[in-house]
Order: sequence, then structure tokens, then C-alpha cells
Amino acid sequence: MPTDIEIASSVTPDPSQRLRQSLGFPQNVEPYGLNKAKINYSKLDPKAKLILVSAINPTPAGEGKTTISIGLTDSLAKIGKNACVAIREPSLGPVFGIKGGAAGGGHAQVIPMDEINLHFTGDIHAISAANNLLAALLDNHIHQGNDLRIHPKKITLRRCIDLNDRALRNVVIGLGTAGDGIVRDDGFYITAASEVMAILCLSRDISDLKRRLGNILIAYNVDGDPVYAKDLKAENAMAILLKEAFKPNLVQTLEGTPAFIHGGPFANIAHGCNSVIATKTAMTFADYVVTEAGFGADLGAEKFLDIKCRGNGLAPSCVVIVATVRALKMHGGILKTELAAPNAEAVSRGCENLKKHIENITGVFGLKAVVAINRFTTDTDDEINAVKHACAVLGVKAILTDVHQNGGAGGRELAQEVVDICENNTNPKITFPYTLEDGIKEKVSAVCQKIYGAGKVVFLPKAKTEIEKITAMGYSTLPVVIAKTQYSFSEDAALIGRPSGFTVNIREIQLRAGSGFIVAVAGDIMLMPGLPKIPAAYNMLLNDDGTVSGLS
Ligand code: ADP
Ligand code: MG
Repeated sequence: MPTDIEIASSVTPDPSQRLRQSLGFPQNVEPYGLNKAKINYSKLDPKAKLILVSAINPTPAGEGKTTISIGLTDSLAKIGKNACVAIREPSLGPVFGIKGGAAGGGHAQVIPMDEINLHFTGDIHAISAANNLLAALLDNHIHQGNDLRIHPKKITLRRCIDLNDRALRNVVIGLGTAGDGIVRDDGFYITAASEVMAILCLSRDISDLKRRLGNILIAYNVDGDPVYAKDLKAENAMAILLKEAFKPNLVQTLEGTPAFIHGGPFANIAHGCNSVIATKTAMTFADYVVTEAGFGADLGAEKFLDIKCRGNGLAPSCVVIVATVRALKMHGGILKTELAAPNAEAVSRGCENLKKHIENITGVFGLKAVVAINRFTTDTDDEINAVKHACAVLGVKAILTDVHQNGGAGGRELAQEVVDICENNTNPKITFPYTLEDGIKEKVSAVCQKIYGAGKVVFLPKAKTEIEKITAMGYSTLPVVIAKTQYSFSEDAALIGRPSGFTVNIREIQLRAGSGFIVAVAGDIMLMPGLPKIPAAYNMLLNDDGTVSGLS
């Protein structure tokens, strides 16, 4: 099979003129080069059916949420529906690190693939610039006399860059002479983990964007009182840097279906899905909008529903849970090196992980679900039947989907089931695992117990103190974001399958007042990844004709 970039390069994207026509709006499309566009549409009326694509807990074997999201959208178009996809922008960290790009795979990709995976329309750089402008204003303020009496040891803001660079996790800034600023510890997050990224993705309009930017908690002063970005009068200058980045990007799939790709927050420290404004724009113009939430459904779908949907009056008519036979085998206890051997029994055991995710979507959130078995060429019929059988017990269909090999034609059956579910589910309502009025501890405990299956939730002393402080500051009605490993329902990445009765230890609580959520940290979370020994960067080539090879 040709590589992803070879397949992607074999199709010339439609000029934005054609994309504009397929979505039926002649105005407000700003061409960005020949094959990308930004949309500047303010009268949003989101009425499409929303379809969320999520997955089992990821394993190194890979699940393919983005691939299925793009392929399913092409399949919906193939069966005559006016569909489009709304997904996140790839971050340069994974592109050059282990995981590679995030533009789908095989015959289910968005194009121009190389541009989407690299700088695209510059949004992520603009987000880095806005964040780092705030950091520069803060250090300048301290240097210029520190009227706000910011405690240099109590600065919560970090600088950011969109690369995997472990050497920037902890840095000392301000070295040099008296004119070079104050010396202090600092550090970098990858831009996808910055609060500005989460804000861009959650803001409803420009005034909401400015309000949220102003509310970023940047430090505490010497009395322990909070200092916000608005105290530095930073929000307008930051918003100016973001004014183009705030407009959703429109490109297309390999088969010419419109694709919105906008914003890319992590699903551990943030809510993990593309921007609200892109989803709502897509829902204004298409009848079916497919969107993806990061990591497994315990992290990504939960946050998508509890935060993005709750905050914007959205609800998916159907949730597609992606599973692969290989990953289910790993959840069934098979080592990565032994995945090649057929083993339907291990698949059945591994389905316990899938079943818990189905139960969460249908039982806890009260939504309709279908399972997409993302087909790999090595899957056997027995293994596929094992997945179908496990899902049938819960009254959910598991449908073999082959969009990686066959594009939209490989997902017709899935598309038809999604359409059937949507048509019979005209007024979807989410049952939330917690209400916003619950206390912070109750909210965190509800997610850990109902969604993860934890027996007990322990708040360590530091977390308890922070909860009291945040409650006293008046923020206890914000939703919670639990930052834990994506590999397990528990906080221990090695506990695969369907663990139960485990304890979740909440070590730390962080206020993201601008994003509008409270982060509860369970386990170590990586906000600045490192590169592996052999980074994907080594396989890349810029050819003499200006084309790129080796991107995947
Ligand atoms: P996710 O969104 O869940 O992180 P992606 O859709 O980005 O996953 O897929 C991860 C990688 O796996 C990509 O390189 C993609 O090309 C590859 N992949 C996905 N589905 C298949 C498949 N059915 N067969 C082979 N490779 C696949
Ligand atoms: Mg993805």
C-alpha cells in the first residue's frame, strides 16, 4: 500500500471556491492559499446532527479515531448526506515525535495533508505568540517595579512552544545584568497544553475570547491573592494576535467532503476537542457533522460532553466508539510483540474495556452508541465476531469499517447505522454524571466512580488546600477536567482491560479560570513531551521540487 503522503499527494484539493459551493455559503469564505480557507461567519445556527467519534483506551497498537472520523464523513457523503467533519489541528510535537501527523490515514485523510500537519494556517503559532506575549508582559511588569506585587515564586503561567522539547520543561530566565529582568524558574508547555489553546477552542465569540483571556490566572501576589491577565491589561493585545487564528479553517477530505480543522487542546490538561466555533459553523451548514474527542472515551468523550456540550447546549445524536482487534487483544493481556497471532479469546477478554466505554455512553450519559471496528488487514473473522458478540450483549452494533483501505466506500454500513440512529433520536439529551452545583470533590468523585469505575477517590493534602482556596475564590461551580493517563481507566497506565475498585489519588488541583474549568491531577501528566530515540523527524525529506516525503 502506498504511504499516507503518497496517497494524499495523488489528489489535488479543490480550490476553496468549490468547497464554498458544496457547503452552500457564498460569503464569508476567506481563501488561504489555493486549497485552504478561513470562515468568518457570525450568524451561527447549529442544527445538524452531531456525531461524536471516541474510542477504547488507547494502546501502542493504535485505534484510528481521526481516520474513522474522516472516513465516516466520506461514507455519509457517499450515501447522499450533506456531511462534514470537524477535528483538531495537528501539533508539531507528535508530527516530529512518535505518533506522527493527525490528518487521518490511508484513504481516509484530509488534504493538503503536509500543510495541515505542518504550519497549516499558522493558528498554533499565533496561540504560542499570544501566550508568550502574556509571559513577556508579566516579566516586564515585575522588572518595571512590580506594582501588582506578584510573588516571583508563585507564578502559574508558563511559556509555550509547539514542539516536543524536554530540555525546556524547566528553565531559568532573566540571567544577565540588572537590565535583563529578574531571575526566576520558568518552564515551557507544548502549545496544545497551554490555557490559550483551551480558551480559543471554548470561546463563543470575540468578546467571550477577550473575557476568557483576561481571566487567565497568572500568579498570586505576596498576600496570596490571585493575579489575572486582565490585571496586566493583556487581553486585548492577546486577542489581536488571535484574531485570524480564531476563524475556523476549512479544507477537504480526499473525496472532496468539507472538513473543518480548528484548535487542538490536549484531552488530559484540557478538554481535548476542536473549537466550539468550528463545530457550530459546521453544524450550521451541514446536516451531519462528525467530530472527534481525544484519547479514550473516559477522558475525551467525558470532557466533550461534560464541558463542551454542556456549555453550548449541544448533544450528539450518536457516539461512535472506535476499537481495533489489535488493541482489544492487548487489553486481553497479549504483548505487543505477539499481536500477529490470531487470538479470538484474548479479543473477547479485551472487550471488557470496550464494554465499559459502551456502558458509560449509553448508561451514564444516556446516549446512543455504535462500535466501529477499524479493520486492519491482519484481523480474522473469529476475532471480528468476538467483538460483534460482546457488543450485541449490550444491544449495540459493532460494524466492520474499512475506510483506511477503501475510503468512503469502506464505511457505508457504519454510515447507514449512524443515520438510522440519528433519525430515531431527534432530541438527544445528555444525562450528566455531575451537576455544576456539586462541590469540586463531588464532581471529581462522580467522574472517577461513574466513568472510570474507581472504588475510592483520595484527595491528597495539597489538593484539599487548593480546593478550599478555589472554592473561597468563588469558582466551585466550574466543571472539572481530570488529568490522568489515557491508557487505563485508572491512574495506573499498566492496569489495562476493565479494572475496578481501584483508588484514584488526586494530587493537585489547578484553576483554569480563563478556560472555565478546574483541573484535577491524578498521576503524572506530561505537558511538555520529549522526543523518542528515533524521532519521526529522521524519516522526513524535503525533495528538490519542494514536495515532502516521509510524513505519516
Ligand atoms: P487516533 O485519532 O485515534 O489517534 P489516527 O486515526 O490518527 O488515530 O490513526 C493513528 C495511525 O494509525 C495513523 O498513522 C493511521 O494511518 C493508522 N491507522 C489507522 N487506522 C488504520 C488501519 N485500519 N490500518 C492501518 N493503519 C491504520
Ligand atoms: Mg486523532
